[in-house]
Formats: sequence, structure tokens, C-alpha cells
Amino acid sequence: MNTAILHLGSNLGDRLQQLEEARRQLQLFCGRIIRKSAIYETAPWGVEDQDDYLNQALILETKLSAQQLLEQTKAIENRQGRERKERWAARTLDIDILFYNTDSIQTQDLTVPHPRIADRRFVLVPLAEIASEWIHPDIGLSVQQLLESCGDKGEVKALPG
Ligand code: ATP
Ligand code: CA
Ligand code: CA
Repeated sequence: MNTAILHLGSNLGDRLQQLEEARRQLQLFCGRIIRKSAIYETAPWGVEDQDDYLNQALILETKLSAQQLLEQTKAIENRQGRERKERWAARTLDIDILFYNTDSIQTQDLTVPHPRIADRRFVLVPLAEIASEWIHPDIGLSVQQLLESCGDKGEVKALPG
């Protein structure tokens, strides 16, 4: 069994419903969600002229390889109407693979750990809620340490409940 940590994002359409449907399809096609963070409302990053996001981090136990997991998560995005336009554009659903076991993977279509974790508060805050002691295998610091040293000041607030 493998442990993958995923990050979900949505800022188009019914954002909460899309995160819920993503979790349902992840359990159906990819494995078992053993931990999930709260849902956070976050300011857009990279391209700021778009609506706020909802984000959530998940720990998934999976028998899939990292490559198979990428294929399945892309299929889930596509079934939920994901369109690929310019970089960091608004989207119905984004599923990023943050970590896969302690692996460092670099292929044409997959980089793990996800290369922008340390630059993004909207990733680190939900991630720290469920995996604060997880060590970034390339940087050698824990998620909590990455959060403490992150320069990103973007707003990240947990939804009530
Ligand atoms: P960012 O990667 O900066 O968060 P994004 O999520 O908007 O941006 P996408 O358009 O969703 O980027 O993905 C572009 C490509 O990134 C995908 O086609 C996928 O093959 C590749 N990719 C590389 N590493 C990963 C990873 N760890 N998780 C998900 N996709 C990845
Ligand atoms: Ca992303
Ligand atoms: Ca993505």
C-alpha cells in the first residue's frame, strides 16, 4: 500500500459540491481517504483576477502507482468539466499530487513532490492540518517548518464546520 497526499482546488461553479464529488470519485477509483483537512477559502495565486478558491488536502492510501494515480486524477478532473486554458486559470477542479510515499519522481508529466508546495500558503495550511510532521524528501524540512518559513501572505481561512 502507498500513501499519497493530494490537494484539491475549485473556483468555478458549485465549489463545495465539486470537492465532494472529487472525494467520492477518489474513493471509487483510487483508494481510501484516511484523513482530510477542513475546507479552506483562499485568495487566487499566480493569476489574481479570478474568484476565490476552495481548497482541501487529503491523505490517500492507494495501490496505484504514482503514474496511475496521475492518470486517474486527470480523468476525474476531466469528468468534472476541467478545461485547460492559460496557466493557473479558473477551474472547476484541480487535483495535485503533493507527495507520494517519500518518493522523488521526475518524468515528463509528473514531478513529485509537487514543485510549488513551499511557495503556497493555500497548500501548506491545509497540508499542515493533516500532515504537519511529514518531511519534504528533497528539502529535508517538515510541512510545519515549510509553513513557518513561507513568504506567501495570501489569505487562507477555514470554512466553519
Ligand atoms: P500547478 O502545477 O502550478 O499547481 P496547475 O495545477 O494549474 O498548476 P495543471 O494544468 O493542472 O497545472 O497541470 C499541468 C500538468 O502538470 C499536468 O498535465 C500534469 O501532467 C503535470 N504534473 C506534474 N507534476 C504533477 C503533480 N505532482 N500533480 C499533478 N499534476 C502534475
Ligand atoms: Ca495546482
Ligand atoms: Ca494540477
